Amino acid sequence: MTSPTRVLVLNSGSSSVKYQLLDMRDRSRLAVGLVERIGERTSRLKHTCVGSGETREQNGPMADHGAALKAVAGELAKDGLGLDSPELAAIGHRVVHGGEFFTEPTVVDDTVLIEIERLIPVAPLHNPANLTGIRTAQELRPDLPQVAVFDTAFHTTMPESAARYAIDPRIADRHRIRRYGFHGTSHAYVSRETARLLGKDPSEVNVIVLHLGNGASASAVRGGVCVDTSMGLTPLEGLVMGTRSGDLDPAVIFHLARVGGMDMDEIDTLLNKRSGLFGLCGDNDMREIRRRVEEGDEQAKLAFDIYIHRLKKYIGAYYAVLGRVDAVAFTAGVGENAAAVREAAVAGLEGLGLAVDADLNAVRGDEARLISPDSARVAVAVVPTDEELEIATQTYALVGRE
Ligand code: AMP
Repeated sequence: MTSPTRVLVLNSGSSSVKYQLLDMRDRSRLAVGLVERIGERTSRLKHTCVGSGETREQNGPMADHGAALKAVAGELAKDGLGLDSPELAAIGHRVVHGGEFFTEPTVVDDTVLIEIERLIPVAPLHNPANLTGIRTAQELRPDLPQVAVFDTAFHTTMPESAARYAIDPRIADRHRIRRYGFHGTSHAYVSRETARLLGKDPSEVNVIVLHLGNGASASAVRGGVCVDTSMGLTPLEGLVMGTRSGDLDPAVIFHLARVGGMDMDEIDTLLNKRSGLFGLCGDNDMREIRRRVEEGDEQAKLAFDIYIHRLKKYIGAYYAVLGRVDAVAFTAGVGENAAAVREAAVAGLEGLGLAVDADLNAVRGDEARLISPDSARVAVAVVPTDEELEIATQTYALVGRE
């Protein structure tokens, strides 16, 4: 019998599950879908079978992740791609926080589940949902390897000088406070793809990756190894994001509590959900912000300028961290689509060897591409990320060998 070659990738959020079924022989997608509003009366499943091009929807209450995954299994079965198929090699799960413990994708056993659970205090929103996804998938296919692929794993190579905050190490260690970084699957994939675009091996190139989506983070990757990243203990640190503030003086929090009379939950909500671009101008979608800027809206322009200023500071910082930079790669929703952001982020950095060619920058497309002029010392690239493919690749690499 030939060995199984399919991998189901599950990305379980607190009230949603995104999934893709891939065939690793040619890395093609067989099915993709999303379940939203799990636990509400208005749950919705949208499923597409890539082969037939057919898209189906289910609307109506799905009480929990168990019900959602059973519905997904049902849709896959209708396309002849059911979870009971002998061609399914494994299920790969995105797990947001792997702490210091998980440096690589890991086949799930009881010890792994306990460790992911122990990390809930540092990832209270994400790890419980990820755990539920794994447990539910185990119930559906107890015989199948379940692989956890951690958002933090790529960043575990950061040196202590980058990973530690300047606080008493005894206190930090007691509470597991350090800079973990997130979006690691994307930073790993994009830094590798950037090397491929340059026709080099990842070990030969230094890359600054700018993952600019609704969440946003930068990383400095030396020879394929992450040496710094902008998110920290949680995804709040670093760049200005859709709704997160990114870096601020920690004393702002004391001030909001002591002088503003806000409690910790209110401050948490303010900084994570009501700040960033949204807090600055009422919109977190870069398309809308650009439209407003074009119309002369001052508030949107200020939000855009603050966003770009922070981005530039990180490019400069990671240039200094790396010493030599071969490429800067833009990725995720904003990085892949917003030419104005790319142009503004690089503007004035000619002294660092960075420039963008206006015509190349205006080209749209799904392929990785260079947008710097031929003469530029540092390549500037748009490299579409593909976290699901990376999770599937890592999962298959672990279990697919016979
Ligand atoms: P992500 O989190 O990677 O899915 O990115 C989502 C964000 O990408 C949205 O909130 C938008 O701000 C941004 N985005 C998506 N498409 C475009 C576009 N065509 N132009 C500018 N920004 C975009």
